[in-house]
Amino acid sequence: MISAPLVAVVGAGPAGIAAVRRLRESSGVRVVLVVPGGLSEYLPGTLAVATGDARAACYRTRVELAGVEIIPARVEAVEPGALRIAGSWRRVEAVIAAPGLAIHPVESATSGSIAAFWDPTGAEAAAPRIGAVEGGIVDVVISSLPYRCPPAPYGLAMRLARRARRLGLPLHVRLLTPEEHPLAALGRTLGDALLAGCEDAGVEVLLGTQADPDALAEGKMPAPDSDPDAADLTIVVPRHHASPLVADLARANSPLVPVDARFATEMAGVFVVGDAAASPYPRAADPAAWSGTVAAQAVLSELGVEGDQAAQTPTADCFVDHGDGAYGRIRIAYPDGSPPRGRPAVTIDPAAPALAIDFEDAHRRWQALRVEIR
Ligand SMILES: Cc1cc2nc3c(=O)[nH]c(=O)nc-3n(C[C@H](O)[C@H](O)[C@H](O)COP(=O)(O)OP(=O)(O)OC[C@H]3O[C@@H](n4cnc5c(N)ncnc54)[C@H](O)[C@@H]3O)c2cc1C
Repeated sequence: MISAPLVAVVGAGPAGIAAVRRLRESSGVRVVLVVPGGLSEYLPGTLAVATGDARAACYRTRVELAGVEIIPARVEAVEPGALRIAGSWRRVEAVIAAPGLAIHPVESATSGSIAAFWDPTGAEAAAPRIGAVEGGIVDVVISSLPYRCPPAPYGLAMRLARRARRLGLPLHVRLLTPEEHPLAALGRTLGDALLAGCEDAGVEVLLGTQADPDALAEGKMPAPDSDPDAADLTIVVPRHHASPLVADLARANSPLVPVDARFATEMAGVFVVGDAAASPYPRAADPAAWSGTVAAQAVLSELGVEGDQAAQTPTADCFVDHGDGAYGRIRIAYPDGSPPRGRPAVTIDPAAPALAIDFEDAHRRWQALRVEIR
């Protein structure tokens, strides 16, 4: 008996999980999902973990999906028709790689006056130092573009400022970004709303501030005793670079992998989806999931299992932490087609404590997509 072709999906973020679930709908393929430790991490939990309000474990789950073989490992290499795991090559018909973006290590990231992180695990290591700052200046530095979830550093700054105010701490929070206006690619209104939120929370935003990425990477920041404007703690959103798995496919000056409209790369039978792909959409969960679905459909079509399907444009839905339990929400749609021709339509829900329930619901839905077998 000839068994159905095997398709490998790498990574269990929104893009990988969407690809797996779309492939699983077809009886014409077998699906294997490879993810380190068999675990998935919910990145929007990063901010609550950074301020010590949650543990990283709250935002981590094992992945168990009926009908899907899970390999709890890191894929070491991909080539047409195969992937290498623990030194052995495994043959597959197609690969959908969804490894996300890697974050650049920062020296002394867990000591001294620099804390660099952009996921719950990194935030947990930094939380004691963030909690120990009782006065002075805290900088949140966006080291370079692109990075995951463009509004989130503003949310972190607002969360820190409001926490300090609530605790009566004399803390001044600054947000430093290389952009001349926040989230410029999404239009002026959204940036204006973020700036207004920051002002309301008491965050000073320093636009057009280009941090020296090499100095940041080496953990070299001016000391407060040599420079009165220097921060007592610098929280760095590290430079994002291509995952080593797909780095050879990325452009020299960008962490993103060029893909066609079906998320196929220049390597035969290898698709790259989610944050790692050079798509014109924001680095956010719903566009990532959408790309996973598009690539899965393309694989099913290439294998002759299903016909071609036209792809719509994705939407994005981002929560903006305003601190003290209040969240705003940004929804982005592309009703006129994909950028740059189609303009993003942005809807902004103002900050409200009630949106914290929606944030928690989104986390529950994320978990339910990953754990089916109990
Ligand atoms: C602080 C923060 C807040 C955010 N808030 C929001 C929000 O409110 N709304 C929103 O839409 N988006 C938000 N995002 C962005 C969103 O989380 C990302 O855009 C999304 O997770 C990208 O999905 P992905 O599947 O491409 O990659 P990821 O979620 O990064 O997943 C990558 C997966 O690949 C695995 N992996 C990596 N390398 C390998 C390898 N070699 N072998 C096997 N597996 C590998 C990883 O373990 C992981 O499972 C936020 C992000 C951050 C950091």
